Amino acid sequence: MYVCGPTVYDLPHIGHGRYNLVFDVLRRYLLFCGLAVRYVSNITDVDDNIIKRANEQGRTEPDVAAEFEARWWEAMDALGVLRPDETPHATAYIDDMVSLVGDLLGRGVAYETSDGVYLNVEQVPGYGLLALQSLDSLKSGARVEGSDEKRSPLDFALWKKAKEGEPTWDAPWGAGRPGWHTECVVMSLDLLGDGFDLHGGGRDLAFPHHENERAQAVAEGRAFARHWVHNGWVEVDGTKMSKSLGNFTSLTDLLTRCDERAYRLLVLRAHYRSPVEVTAPTLVDAEKALERLDGLARRFGIGDLLAEGRGYVVEDLDAADSDPGALAAFHARMDDDMDTPGALADVFELVTAAHSAADAGDEAEANRLAGTAAVLLAALGVPLRAAPVEVDEESARLVAARDEARVAKDFVRADALRDELVARGWTVEDTPSGTAVRR
Ligand SMILES: [Zn+2]
Repeated sequence: MYVCGPTVYDLPHIGHGRYNLVFDVLRRYLLFCGLAVRYVSNITDVDDNIIKRANEQGRTEPDVAAEFEARWWEAMDALGVLRPDETPHATAYIDDMVSLVGDLLGRGVAYETSDGVYLNVEQVPGYGLLALQSLDSLKSGARVEGSDEKRSPLDFALWKKAKEGEPTWDAPWGAGRPGWHTECVVMSLDLLGDGFDLHGGGRDLAFPHHENERAQAVAEGRAFARHWVHNGWVEVDGTKMSKSLGNFTSLTDLLTRCDERAYRLLVLRAHYRSPVEVTAPTLVDAEKALERLDGLARRFGIGDLLAEGRGYVVEDLDAADSDPGALAAFHARMDDDMDTPGALADVFELVTAAHSAADAGDEAEANRLAGTAAVLLAALGVPLRAAPVEVDEESARLVAARDEARVAKDFVRADALRDELVARGWTVEDTPSGTAVRR
């Protein structure tokens, strides 16, 4: 599978976290089914935004790209997203992109203008497939972008001719740099081959990015992705999360504010094509659900089936002792267009059933159900933590003192005690039963 990766010029945002979690879950499920998966996701390390950032900060483009790529992997590791098998970088594929553009020019489907080389989409059979619109309806709604020498408003740049102050590479039709859509088609076909199984990305990439990737492959007479998967976006108070709307919160931010497993749980609770709402209350709710799962691990002495720090390895997941009915139900849910909300609800029922069996003294049944729940959660990439939060003596004293201050309505003192706890590395929350802390 090929999943479009990031353009590395800023910290990853919450939307990046979602699509990586969605495709991580899909990949893990395919592995759980016993399939071999080769997962390719690119790094766009040359682009307008990187050039702009480098110029603003007086740095080189490779320097900016290297910094934000490192921040990207930090965030993905924290989310427990398995590293891709291959992470091709755009700048390593310029020669292949130049030869694709040359080939499309030779076939007469691309043409040169004063500012670049464009693909003439009207010559591509089935253009509009991913937009789910006809060529005519797309044309009537199109904004004209780029050169006014374009033959059709939908034509897009395969190559952008050199401009002052930009990194450039040589090409027979003039030095410059490739267009974004050209990068993914070249890298996916090179690493996965013609007619590869699955291409994924956020819903906003379906058109024009994926449409244009596909158009280039089709124009070259090659079979492109056989299946497309597009996930829904992230909403904050009913609005799409995006930087341009100003509700940008970095993923790095979010990961310092809550249990890093909470976001995975939120993503699993929504169908991948539906929006997911990421707000403080939904995250707190997910943390409560995690506490229920960790409670299962504690009661039944279940160790972490996913080795953290090794990217949550899944190969060794053994479902041999799992409840056959629960296992079959899990596959039925997941095979039905990845019904993760249904699968997760079933897992929580298993958790309840395991506790009930244990309460009734049926230890064997209880252990079997609890073990099954743990295996299914591991298949979805959710690790369990049996170890309770250990609060050192001094921190416990501060917590007690803060509760006393709050009862006495001495909020100045309560705030000062909160700051002390935060300085000791705790996240402090007010709960109905008083101050709660967690790492
Ligand atoms: Zn792409």
